[in-house]
Amino acid sequence: VLLLPDLVLGPDGEARSGLGVEIDGGFIVAVRAAQAGEEDTALPGRMLVPGCVNAHSHAFQRALRGRVERREGAGEDDFWSWREAMYEAAGALDPDSIGEVSEACFREARAAGYTTIGEFHYVHHQPDGTPYDDPNALALSVVEAARRAGVRLVLLLAAYARAGAGEPPTARQRRFCDPTVERYLARVESLHAAVAGDPLITVGYAPHSVRALPRPWLEAIAAHAAGTGLPVHIHASEQPREVVECLVEHDCQPIELLDACGLLGPATTVVHATHASTRELDLLADRKAAVCACPTTEGNLGDGFLPAAGLWARAVPVCVGADSNVRLDPFEEAREMETCARRRELRRNVLVPEGDDGPSPSLWRSLTRRGAQALHLETGSIAPGMAADLVALDLAHPQLAGVAAADVPAAVLFAGSAALVRETWVAGHVATGT
Ligand SMILES: [Zn+2]
Repeated sequence: VLLLPDLVLGPDGEARSGLGVEIDGGFIVAVRAAQAGEEDTALPGRMLVPGCVNAHSHAFQRALRGRVERREGAGEDDFWSWREAMYEAAGALDPDSIGEVSEACFREARAAGYTTIGEFHYVHHQPDGTPYDDPNALALSVVEAARRAGVRLVLLLAAYARAGAGEPPTARQRRFCDPTVERYLARVESLHAAVAGDPLITVGYAPHSVRALPRPWLEAIAAHAAGTGLPVHIHASEQPREVVECLVEHDCQPIELLDACGLLGPATTVVHATHASTRELDLLADRKAAVCACPTTEGNLGDGFLPAAGLWARAVPVCVGADSNVRLDPFEEAREMETCARRRELRRNVLVPEGDDGPSPSLWRSLTRRGAQALHLETGSIAPGMAADLVALDLAHPQLAGVAAADVPAAVLFAGSAALVRETWVAGHVATGT
């Protein structure tokens, strides 16, 4: 089938007209002009863009929306007090309810323009830590939820072992934890086998953080992952307290520790990197690791600012995640990265790689191809050979009224919202709305 919109977002973030996108068997096979008399699917008043990638999601946290926006008790409200509310929600999950909340989250995400989800999944066992009959029962419920919602999913299976340096897990953390790293790695292998053959579902490693894992676990996961080619995602440098604790335990900062453990390489995505030092930013660039920014969640939790200018200056690939799913709108994530960088740098058009004339092309890459690369997927670009994961945006929407065609890609990012999304395609299968 040949999809024929008014505009197609090109690989350099430019709006191209007069082109159709030919899809077959779930893939894009050509980007070309329609031939005379050829049957096509006209998409008038639409711009076709690659499906956006939510590279870091905790789907069940969608259930906290609105519930955590008031102070509880007398103390200060911060990331750590929010975490207690999140643990309470995690504690209540069972295989059915995690499937329900995940499906609702994935449906909302797809309707907002995210066709791929990197689900960083860490609720594994029964509340007291006893495994279910199938130790991957909850992960497989999330996989089923993705299938029902029709999204592409990378299930990033998290490893968790402790509350902090030398501290056993708290009661609420027990269901996140495996007794040994070998048991965790066996679960990665069995999940990988369980989803093999489904082109929409893949698996990755997710050592949770340097706070939740001792050094031998980080090293064992690095060694195991190296042979597989699967992606590795890890939270690092989200909160100042985490950096201080890492300095006390290891005499180095979190991203330096990842490097010392063999975990920092081209297959690795560091989630947040909010408090990364200059030396750590250099390390990320040297090791060709990626960063996943989660701007709306980092704002909601009071984490701090992404060191965006430093990452762009070093050409570290940056993708985005909706993380706690407090907000599902890819364009807002991109806009936050640039506008927060403007506030910090006191100038405009900050995140501009050499050769580009503005931030829009690079921000589009962050939403699409960079996320796909962080998840080791061949999607996120409208080009032959890529998966047919696409989003049609409404050019007639008031948010884009009067905008010249050449300015539409930037206008979507700086003035648009998920309300622009009309149809979405995942592996060539179309859906409208939720
Ligand atoms: Zn996270």
